[in-house]
Amino acid sequence: PEVITVQELANRMAERGADVIKSLMRMGVMATINQTIDADTAELVVAEFGHRMRRVSESDVEVGLKGDQDIDEDLIARAPVVTVMGHVDHGKTSLLDALRSTDVASREAGGITQHIGAYQVQLGSGGKITFIDTPGHAAFTEMRARGANVTDVVVLVVAADDGIMPQTIEAIHHAKAAQVPIIVAINKCDLPDANPDRVRQELLQHELVVEEMGGDVLAVEVSAKTRQGLDKIEEAILLQAEILELRANPNRAAEGVVIEAKLERGRGSVATVLVQRGTLRVGDIFVAGAEWGRVRALVNDRGASTDTAGPAEPIEVLGLNGTPMAGDEFAVVETEARAREITEFRQRKKREAVAAAGSRGTLEQMFTRI
Ligand code: GDP
Ligand code: MG
Repeated sequence: PEVITVQELANRMAERGADVIKSLMRMGVMATINQTIDADTAELVVAEFGHRMRRVSESDVEVGLKGDQDIDEDLIARAPVVTVMGHVDHGKTSLLDALRSTDVASREAGGITQHIGAYQVQLGSGGKITFIDTPGHAAFTEMRARGANVTDVVVLVVAADDGIMPQTIEAIHHAKAAQVPIIVAINKCDLPDANPDRVRQELLQHELVVEEMGGDVLAVEVSAKTRQGLDKIEEAILLQAEILELRANPNRAAEGVVIEAKLERGRGSVATVLVQRGTLRVGDIFVAGAEWGRVRALVNDRGASTDTAGPAEPIEVLGLNGTPMAGDEFAVVETEARAREITEFRQRKKREAVAAAGSRGTLEQMFTRI
């Protein structure tokens, strides 16, 4: 039976009617805004937009908006998620490595670190920060292009001996487009020809006014080499996180984003997932883009097996039936049947998109898999 009009479905998902019509068209359903559609079709559309649907009765459906079901009192503070960006050779990798070694928990555990695409640092103060360990603009823009907003704060690395360079400007544009606050790490301050004042001046030309000049952009002088200023940059990130009031409900089915995924010999398809809300558990059935699986094991950034992963935690997930793509949405679902239904629909849509776009689509897919 037809249960809902296109308009009503769009309203319940808080999406534009035109986008819902387009989604229907891609499924081969021609419908106008006032037409009614059946529950099966509605459910596929809802899944397509990344929301959830429940059949309340024969004649009505309830749409659970992604993240919107959480009521205020269920939300608790979560760690900020940070991406490091900047010009080549300005010290992104060095800074990420240096920050990583400030983690007190892994020092206690013996310090074997795994590179899984993201890591979380526990500070002596008790605060936590999650860093996306794949620096660079490609990761950031690709995720954004795929609709994934993983980053709360961008740390912009600028070498004090080199100043603002083309990729610095590019990074500023990306962060601004994503409306993500920027903290500037003026790096390599140990060098004799370091000139942090010049960096602050140059930032002005890109509408980043640092605090010292009466603006609201935090800029910290650091050295990834001597480790000068690492605590200050962490403080600045936590301060920014407080301003952003980052919170999530840990007591619900997990949702998040795939940070990276690959097929590994002996382990099968492995995805690093950033949990954004809820708690992921061993045994959970989940959908990741056009793939699904049942969590066989969870491995954290210290290489340790764990039973659960909560909000803002990066975690390696084993048990996938295929390899998803970076930026794919991740969500725990109730049943295997549901997981199959969603992924079969997405697989079909993917094949259609590739066929429609011809070689261009295939190329794009190749690129996003690299
Ligand atoms: P990326 O391309 O931005 O990831 O930069 P890297 O982290 O690979 O660093 C580029 C070069 O700068 C390497 O040779 C690093 O050893 C060096 N470097 C990075 N940070 C510092 C620093 O704080 N001081 C000094 N003197 N050299 C640094
Ligand atoms: Mg690098």
